[in-house]
Amino acid sequence: MSETRRLPAPVPPGGTIGILGGGQLGRMLALAAARLGLKTHIYSPPNEDAPAFQVSDAQTQAAFDGAAALTSFAEACDAVTFEWENVPVTSVEHIARTRPIFPSARTLGVTQDRLFEKRLVHSLGLKTAPFANVETATDARSAVAETGTPSILKTRRMGYDGKGQAKIRSVDDALQAFERFHAAPCIVEGFVDFAFEASVVAARGLDGSFVAYDPPENIHGDHILRQSIVPSRLTDAQMKEAKAIAKGIADALDYVGVLAVELFVMTDGALLVNEIAPRVHNSGHWTIDACLVSQFENHIRAVAGWPLGTTERHSDAVMENLIGDEAADWAALAAKGGALHLYGKSEIRPGRKMGHVTYLKSKID
Ligand code: AMP
Repeated sequence: MSETRRLPAPVPPGGTIGILGGGQLGRMLALAAARLGLKTHIYSPPNEDAPAFQVSDAQTQAAFDGAAALTSFAEACDAVTFEWENVPVTSVEHIARTRPIFPSARTLGVTQDRLFEKRLVHSLGLKTAPFANVETATDARSAVAETGTPSILKTRRMGYDGKGQAKIRSVDDALQAFERFHAAPCIVEGFVDFAFEASVVAARGLDGSFVAYDPPENIHGDHILRQSIVPSRLTDAQMKEAKAIAKGIADALDYVGVLAVELFVMTDGALLVNEIAPRVHNSGHWTIDACLVSQFENHIRAVAGWPLGTTERHSDAVMENLIGDEAADWAALAAKGGALHLYGKSEIRPGRKMGHVTYLKSKID
């Protein structure tokens, strides 16, 4: 699947990395870029509280499909990336006409659609939960028959943190949920009785080089990540397999940048691919404090065409998300001995990721 690409020249220190999306991921990317002597230009839609604006060198406030704004943004940057996987593919294609943008529009097109993503994973001989495509009510009936119950109806596009998902116990549940989702294309996915969840955060360079962090174990509540823990309960063999899964996917997509592969770890030891995130990932935030080179720095290095940095972990770590008003307790959290990260969001809202804390246990005696 890999295509021949003429490698753009590396962006030297002093150059500008453009980032589509102004959330906390963009903010942490901008902070990492600054440490490397690179500037950042953040592009974020109007009327959004954009945490990345506060720590970047230049800002554009415009809609993600604003052609003129995208062109002037691209012209002001040396290379571009995104921190949100639902940026329109056409906008990425638009920018690609002016400047290198990574990951590619093709990668984004695959990962924006759960069906395309799962088909890619299967084509590589990797396992997923059983799934079936749903575009009509008739499909919904046969999909439930195929996957059995319990299962989950998921919209193929635009779902995250459990949004666009409904648990299914019968054909009627599936039909009702499909209607609730306005008959948007969906998949039905068999409910997986996993032992625990893990993820691989990995980076692939412009030259095809590949590095991966130790996979954390991830604990969710209400579909939102609560904790990432390293080391995980994965065996050495499973860690090796998890990294090989991420490499297979990254190579197939001729990927450039950091990607995350979310995994279900089964009681028999099998690893199922749940989802691919074509960006830096919440389950990799611990790498800022527990690794020499964080996921954010490695993403910037990849997009700028620099050599990738080591993913070695100098400490064991537990990362805890601060959701909604948990961040209001910042003074108590600051006193607790962890590394406190607050995203500078002006408004606390239920379910909103406001910050995180990383607690370390040194591996160095
Ligand atoms: P997703 O948006 O697909 O990553 O789903 C969010 C979370 O919902 C996952 O991290 C799991 O905790 C849970 N989940 C999603 N799909 C399944 C499944 N097929 N079986 C069991 N749990 C699931």
